[in-house]
Amino acid sequence: MSINLWKEAQQLFAGGVNSPVRALVKPYPFYTSKGEGPFLITEDGKKIVDYVLGYGPLILGHSPEKVRNKIMEQVQKGWLYGTPSRIEVELAKKIIFHIPSAQKIRFVNSGTEATMNAIRLVRGFTGREKIIKFNGNYHGAHDYGLIEAGSAVSEYGITISKGIPKDIVKTVLLCEYNDLTCVEKYLKEENVAGVIMEPVMGNYGVIPPKTDFIKGIRELTSAFGTLLIFDEVITGFRLGLSGAQGMFGVVPDVTTLGKIIGGGLPIGAIAGRREIMDSITPAGEVFNAGTFNANPLSMAAGLATIEELEHTNAYEISNEAAKVISQEVDQMMKIDHVTHRVGSMMQFFLGVKEVKNATEAKKANKSLYLNLHEQLLKEGVFIPPSQLETIFTSASHSQNVINFTIDKFRKVLREIKND
Ligand code: PMP
Repeated sequence: MSINLWKEAQQLFAGGVNSPVRALVKPYPFYTSKGEGPFLITEDGKKIVDYVLGYGPLILGHSPEKVRNKIMEQVQKGWLYGTPSRIEVELAKKIIFHIPSAQKIRFVNSGTEATMNAIRLVRGFTGREKIIKFNGNYHGAHDYGLIEAGSAVSEYGITISKGIPKDIVKTVLLCEYNDLTCVEKYLKEENVAGVIMEPVMGNYGVIPPKTDFIKGIRELTSAFGTLLIFDEVITGFRLGLSGAQGMFGVVPDVTTLGKIIGGGLPIGAIAGRREIMDSITPAGEVFNAGTFNANPLSMAAGLATIEELEHTNAYEISNEAAKVISQEVDQMMKIDHVTHRVGSMMQFFLGVKEVKNATEAKKANKSLYLNLHEQLLKEGVFIPPSQLETIFTSASHSQNVINFTIDKFRKVLREIKND
């Protein structure tokens, strides 16, 4: 039973969990014993439709056959060599083929490692120290990014994580998303190494960039010799094979990837222009290393996932699922609200009329959203336990599952205060 595991877990882990967002499921987190297509099967024997999907990686749903087989095949051959292997070359070629900004790549083990190394890389390459980041963008759990970050950082009311040296905080310049004037001001006033941004915000709910904002940042950074980092840990291979950069036609200097490129196993990657990437050790002097970098199991799962994305209609199905659900729910909501959807990413902001940045998103009615999450969960539908996370769909979300979901939204919205 979940309750028994949760009781033990509270003695074992800080806050009972190993990643903070998981503790937000009330009255206590359900424990999953199996993932199957669009479903999570819990330790309590419940079958739940999953719109969290591991917080993004599982674009094909849980345990898709092709990916599972490829992982099993690799398991038979061993899972850590400490030497290069064929499969890292294959996955690298695929990613470089699809992602416009990628000419070379370094595999690491998480999105956190990817952005931490990307920031070090742009600093090392330019010889400058300042970084511009956006309020509510989340780039992982390292010192350079935990300043007005989104996701669980903001959910738990942390503006700057304790434990970060003041001198590091001073190197991060903060702007509001969709505010080009702020970026321009800092680029003029300061010696900025890089701008790091989520090309679609996915860690403060979903907030798309205005076209002139994302294009303007590219032009401005080029003009000032500042490198542009797109953090595509969520959007990479979710918004299509060429990610957000393909969708918007804006090519950054450096891209960070994670989640989908590991097919549900731990991964991260830094990719970018050849001469920039060649600053990384051993070609250059920006240090990176990792026992598990390019580990064969993550490579296998990632390769099989991208092959599925190339050869099936996975994007069509997952995008359509998000489109139908977002449109239906949008119409059911009687109160002021904003519905944002980009591809298979969506989120609802309740009690507000416009959301173009984190400050506006913060004004949304958090408790009403949590109520929606809680009531839906009782009905067997799992959306994230935080307004700041993204609702994802996958290629395994069939018409039946979508209809079931819409019925449950209708029932729950009727019951909770929605007018
Ligand atoms: N960047 C973005 C945009 C993310 O959404 C996340 C995680 N949700 C990260 C970086 C960090 O990735 P990881 O959790 O794999 O360290």
